[in-house]
Amino acid sequence: MGRGPRVIVVGAGIAGLVAARRLAAAGAAVTVLEAADRVGGRMTSETVDGYVIDRGAQFLSRAYEQLPGLVRETGLRAAWRPTSPYAAVVRDGAPRRIRYGNPLSVTTGGLLRPRELLALARHLAALRRHVRGRSLTDYGAWAPFDDRDAAGWLADDTVPAVADYFYEPMLQGFYFQPLHGTSRALAMAMAAFGYRRPRTMTVEGGIGRIPEALADPLDVRTGHPVTGLALGADGAHVTTPEGGFEGDHVVLAAPAHTAAELLGTQATPAEADLLACTYSATATLMLGTARTWRPPDALRDVYGVLLPERERQDVAALSVEGNKSPDRTAGRGELLGVFLTGDAAERLRAHGDADVVTAVLPEVERRLPGIGDAVTTAHVVRWPAAEPRSPVGRARAVAAYRRTPPHGRPLILAGDYTGLPWTDSAAATGAWAASRLLEPRSARR
Ligand SMILES: Cc1cc2nc3c(=O)[nH]c(=O)nc-3n(C[C@H](O)[C@H](O)[C@H](O)COP(=O)(O)OP(=O)(O)OC[C@H]3O[C@@H](n4cnc5c(N)ncnc54)[C@H](O)[C@@H]3O)c2cc1C
Repeated sequence: MGRGPRVIVVGAGIAGLVAARRLAAAGAAVTVLEAADRVGGRMTSETVDGYVIDRGAQFLSRAYEQLPGLVRETGLRAAWRPTSPYAAVVRDGAPRRIRYGNPLSVTTGGLLRPRELLALARHLAALRRHVRGRSLTDYGAWAPFDDRDAAGWLADDTVPAVADYFYEPMLQGFYFQPLHGTSRALAMAMAAFGYRRPRTMTVEGGIGRIPEALADPLDVRTGHPVTGLALGADGAHVTTPEGGFEGDHVVLAAPAHTAAELLGTQATPAEADLLACTYSATATLMLGTARTWRPPDALRDVYGVLLPERERQDVAALSVEGNKSPDRTAGRGELLGVFLTGDAAERLRAHGDADVVTAVLPEVERRLPGIGDAVTTAHVVRWPAAEPRSPVGRARAVAAYRRTPPHGRPLILAGDYTGLPWTDSAAATGAWAASRLLEPRSARR
């Protein structure tokens, strides 16, 4: 340590932390500057009234490419555990249970009619040829499909039920984004998880334990918002209210809008294309219930429920946290997650937390009878910038950025807006930034 280059990493989300770990392991002197008073960014957990709450990222996957290794690396392997294998999607007013590993449950559970399942099977079989082996962390790898929106593609390719009850609820429930205007490249990457025998995973004690463990051996300065960034021929100067920092390189792993502000006119055209990324919004309501309240039988063992557009008003998804992992409730009543659509989050942005709960509770009550009288704890987390939107063109912008030779530039961008809108891809962008920076200088010029 110490003899390698000095690197400043801006942002201690999963992307910045992975970059910092890889660089420090290679001998760089790394300082991580984080604006918030804790690490993790959109991957943090906290304890509220005894409940363990995941504030941002909710579910991980065994099919992820980076996180299983990071969990091993940070000694969290024993805490890495599968959720219950049951999820549900609402159709005709009722939740339709699906069991992981049993594709037929899509029809035996009542989500798709047999001929719709056949259409889905045909669609996925044709898709497999294109998506097999394609990276689920490098969005640039999906550039060949970044040519039209998911709604138009599905309208031409399959029956409406596949769009309405398969793609649409996942795009909105996972990423708070509509089919219309979202590139089919993102929809295809999302569907490609299905070929990798996915299993939903979590971390006992909260998903935020992963970034905390990653940060542990690093020099991370929380409460250090970066307010200025000046790039020079031999490095960069970074300003914070606590003082300035000099680095041979900067890994800028703050969200796109912050990175764009910091770089200003210093951004190259390829960087500017990425930094133009905007984000969907959401708000999550975490509702603790009285011990006497139980979810309806139709949700037995279900950890997550998706609500398709034709079935919902403001709620895109629900989670039953005790079925995610029993430690989330710690022997108390149930803990329910309520995830608002992007549109609802925007509409309710200016309202206080109590008003948001009041506005949304009637819809939740329709899915979870009796919940209105059973809530003992209500905790709202706002995410005005939840996940990078993926209009047509973003995958091509990522591919172009990754192809641009660095030419000795002391700056590398990282974060989910330079990849796909999930933790694993964010982590991979950090690893990519580190490996690019560690390329021999001769290759960089
Ligand atoms: C509600 C919600 C649910 C989600 N669900 C899932 C899920 O189930 N599964 C999944 O895999 N992913 C999920 N995601 C997405 C996932 O959380 C993100 O893709 C990932 O955490 C992004 O990591 P990042 O490092 O790119 O960005 P961030 O986590 O946003 O990290 C950026 C960091 O930069 C810091 N920063 C900002 N400005 C400055 C500054 N000026 N100076 C210094 N530091 C600064 C921020 O404080 C932050 O810590 C979800 C996200 C949200 C919001």
